[in-house]
Amino acid sequence: MSQGSGEKNYETAKFLAHEAGTIISVRECIVRVKGMPSVINGQIVEFEPGGRGMVLGFNEKEVHVLVLNSKSALHIGDKVISTGEFLKLPVGDAFLGRIVSSLCEPVDNGGPIVPSALFSVFTEAPGVMDRVPVKETLETGTMLLDAVIPIAKGQRQLLIGDRLTGKTTVAVDAIINQKEQDVICIYCCIGKPNSSLQKILNLFFEQGVFPYTIVVSSVASVSMGEQYLAPYTATMLGEYFMRNGKDVLVVFDDLTKHAWVYRQISLLLERAPGREAYPGDIFYVHSQMMERAGYFKPELGGGSMTFLPIVEILQGDVTGFISSNLISMTDGQIYFSTALFNKGVRPAIDFGLSVSRIGNKAQWPAMKALSGQLRLEYIQYQELLQMTQLRTTGLSREAEDRMKRGQAITQLLIQDKNKPLPMEAEIMYLFALSMGLLDTLSAADVRKFKDTFVALVKKEFPDLFKEIRTTMILNDISIEMLYEALNHYFAAV
Ligand code: ATP
Ligand code: MG
Repeated sequence: MSQGSGEKNYETAKFLAHEAGTIISVRECIVRVKGMPSVINGQIVEFEPGGRGMVLGFNEKEVHVLVLNSKSALHIGDKVISTGEFLKLPVGDAFLGRIVSSLCEPVDNGGPIVPSALFSVFTEAPGVMDRVPVKETLETGTMLLDAVIPIAKGQRQLLIGDRLTGKTTVAVDAIINQKEQDVICIYCCIGKPNSSLQKILNLFFEQGVFPYTIVVSSVASVSMGEQYLAPYTATMLGEYFMRNGKDVLVVFDDLTKHAWVYRQISLLLERAPGREAYPGDIFYVHSQMMERAGYFKPELGGGSMTFLPIVEILQGDVTGFISSNLISMTDGQIYFSTALFNKGVRPAIDFGLSVSRIGNKAQWPAMKALSGQLRLEYIQYQELLQMTQLRTTGLSREAEDRMKRGQAITQLLIQDKNKPLPMEAEIMYLFALSMGLLDTLSAADVRKFKDTFVALVKKEFPDLFKEIRTTMILNDISIEMLYEALNHYFAAV
């Protein structure tokens, strides 16, 4: 048999898989269909009135289909046709700068998108042999993170905290900071009110992030099927760029909502609820997704995918089912504390409960050297602060020095929203701190230093930025320039 007729046979076999069934019940986003005995899980079906669904389960008599989208309401008796295919969606460079639904359809006013390829939405994560160790740092622009809880390209770092503690702000700032970093960003909104997304979109427009960013919009008002799909679509869009050797940053805002949607779907499918009424396979669902991040070998394009999943908790309780699952399947977490937020600390990140397990392997040597003592000094200061609440006089000289250093660190790490800092500036500030130059300054003076020192360096010592970025260390040349710049600054004040 010639190869050509072989292909033809295959086509015929595929055609036979196009079974047609009939809807026998409709329950929110789940329809039950009879008359499609040979479909398998994950296959896509088309509804005759228009729209698509995905097979999520079956028994001897019926097939359970999750409605992804439908043009009009579905009814009992409507025809359903199996496509015999798994979900594939368009990807490509043309998606940059666009806002799309989780079915990759544009939801902005930018007209149709011309895709470069079709990619599978649900794929298996590459194995260990396809990966290489992390080697580059992802510059978040939030000084506290870059110094103490650094994130490497390819890392999965969970942002965890109560409502309104600044989680989204830190993730969005990381996107804003990629402007000159050649990193493709994907912001995936899951189950948020439209107004929240709108605020973020306005900010994205203002800050000019769209040339390198895609937004996957799956707000609370879209179908549950689409909300369920959103993080997979975001990952898939990222995989296209990653396979082309790019570094990609994906923010999932947030996975708590995704877990809720999956719980809803599972309950409608009458699957046995487990802990906190979530289905038993929610761990599998999220871990499969998180595994798709990483730094990959040149054979796979040599790109990387960094994930910043956000999870919302209640009253600081990290032991909830979804949050503890996600903590166990990521490479570290950034803990946002309501108590700190209420005290006015911005970003309200708790040093003690936050950790990055792999990020420091890729940190710039200059940053690593300067931030080594920072966490310890800050935590010691916090302890001292609690002790001295009872007794404010008669502190030892050493304790007094520690207090001053702690106060300087606190002021230095306070950062306004949407003003990410370049890594070079962070290094300069920490150098000044390590020299003890900030210990005696008042809070207002530290703020003034942060606001004006970088401008001075840019004007008077323009090479310093370049020297630090290219070498990533503080060598004799940069230290000399830094000393001169600091002398210059402190002589003037
Ligand atoms: P949600 O639970 O609604 O998702 P969230 O934890 O994502 O909230 P954000 O929306 O990022 O929190 O921030 C909450 C509020 O705190 C916002 O009004 C934001 O402007 C403010 N905020 C966050 N970080 C900072 C900061 N560094 N400086 C000033 N204001 C900030
Ligand atoms: Mg948020």
